[in-house]
Amino acid sequence: MGKKLEADVVVVGAGTSGCYFALKLAERGYRCVVLEKERLEMLGSHIGPFHMEEVAFARFGVPFPEGNELLHVVKNSTMWSPNRNSSFQFELKTLVMDKPSFIQRLQGYARDSGVEVLEQAEVTGLMWERGFLRGVRVSTPEGELEVAARLVVDASGIDSAVRALMPRTRWLETAPINDRDTFIVYMEPWRNITGEFYPDINSFPGFQGWYAPGPGDTTIVGVGMMGSAEAAKKRHDLFVEMLPFEGEVVSSTGGRVPYRRPPYSLVDNGFMVMGDAAYMNKPFSGEGVTSAFTACVIAVDVADRALAVDDLSRESLWPYNVRYFRDQGAKFAFLMSFMPALVAVSDEELDFFFSIPGVMTEESSRALQLEYEVKGDIKESLKAVSHIIKGLAGRQLRPSTLFSLARAGVLAGALKNLYERFPDHPVDFGRWMVRVDRIWSRSERFKYEYFSSLTRELG
Ligand SMILES: Cc1cc2nc3c(=O)[nH]c(=O)nc-3n(C[C@H](O)[C@H](O)[C@H](O)COP(=O)(O)OP(=O)(O)OC[C@H]3O[C@@H](n4cnc5c(N)ncnc54)[C@H](O)[C@@H]3O)c2cc1C
Repeated sequence: MGKKLEADVVVVGAGTSGCYFALKLAERGYRCVVLEKERLEMLGSHIGPFHMEEVAFARFGVPFPEGNELLHVVKNSTMWSPNRNSSFQFELKTLVMDKPSFIQRLQGYARDSGVEVLEQAEVTGLMWERGFLRGVRVSTPEGELEVAARLVVDASGIDSAVRALMPRTRWLETAPINDRDTFIVYMEPWRNITGEFYPDINSFPGFQGWYAPGPGDTTIVGVGMMGSAEAAKKRHDLFVEMLPFEGEVVSSTGGRVPYRRPPYSLVDNGFMVMGDAAYMNKPFSGEGVTSAFTACVIAVDVADRALAVDDLSRESLWPYNVRYFRDQGAKFAFLMSFMPALVAVSDEELDFFFSIPGVMTEESSRALQLEYEVKGDIKESLKAVSHIIKGLAGRQLRPSTLFSLARAGVLAGALKNLYERFPDHPVDFGRWMVRVDRIWSRSERFKYEYFSSLTRELG
């Protein structure tokens, strides 16, 4: 017979979401076990450098990085039009950090709070008791292990290891994430750069591309692309052709990030899901560390109450759904629905939008990065209307593009509205889901068509 362990909570995945959740729950006095299928020292090494806004450290109670973990502190971000004739800069202090070191630091905090973190422990099956998830079966180099727990938390990243093993019910989407809902990120650190080059973070929304400081004296040149690694590499080649500088490619790194609408529910009996496993990535950048922390904070609160009264039912865990979806989930639903229409705008039209006042502004970009909302000054927006009319008359903007953006805006607004009214109780979930699903199926069709055509174009 295999080994057995018991805990209040078992967390699957020792990435940033799993460690942060376990750490915060352990601080409230619960016994947490974190299971990680890889060796802990390897986590994050396929990514290397990553970004986190400075404000996030205070917001989530994580101490600032020091030593080799902190690669750079960046003050500004610049957004460029496709022809690079227009750009605007906004101040947003961002830390560029070494991902493996950051994860190891979080694991250290978790251990200090009493969390047991097991490496090379891959969850392969689930344990059930009277309709409640009551633990996981684990494969380890020493043999099989069973971890019994009152609550099982899926923080296993894009694999969604637990969610995908759950039985199909109307309460939870169990299908693993597919290629059409995944972005491949491809990044190259460059050095010895010559040519027209700007410091800090530079984004090119027309390419889903960017360049930013990397480890040492390197600059990371990266893109995100749906479909395959080949498509991402080809998109990167096109991006590089457009850049006004050259450099020596040091290596390449990358990985996959979910690019999917928010799921419809994050809980079931004895179960919670968070992080990339619940596609909590920012729809405009794919970043997912702090957006998952936002969910973790809510989940810790809800799990604490449920564990305290020993009621881990779907109903008892439901407030995690309500609080998450009515706020960040609703904002992400809006952006995830609207972004594909925006990135599908032609380069010339995007250049036009950059050139008119009131559309792409410093304030709106900062609000998007920090609050995940599209905010605009009414007076400025009114000014933009007259420019848009002139653009239509001067053929700088096609009526079909304007129509497509307006349609996307209406659908995105309707989705946000529905998520903001996420049902208080599971009884009303079925009706809510039918309504929201109807709008998503219209909205997502556009996203799939656009990215499929882009992938075809890239061969
Ligand atoms: C190239 C790249 C660059 C990025 N840059 C940024 C950035 O600058 N800023 C930012 O905020 N985000 C960035 N992201 C996104 C960010 O990395 C993710 O959103 C974040 O790591 C998600 O954390 P997570 O803990 O939910 O999942 P993960 O970090 O994927 O952790 C999940 C863990 O679960 C483990 N696991 C999986 N299956 C099992 C199983 N069956 N049993 C046990 N363990 C299992 C995995 O091995 C993994 O360690 C980037 C992503 C990529 C790919």
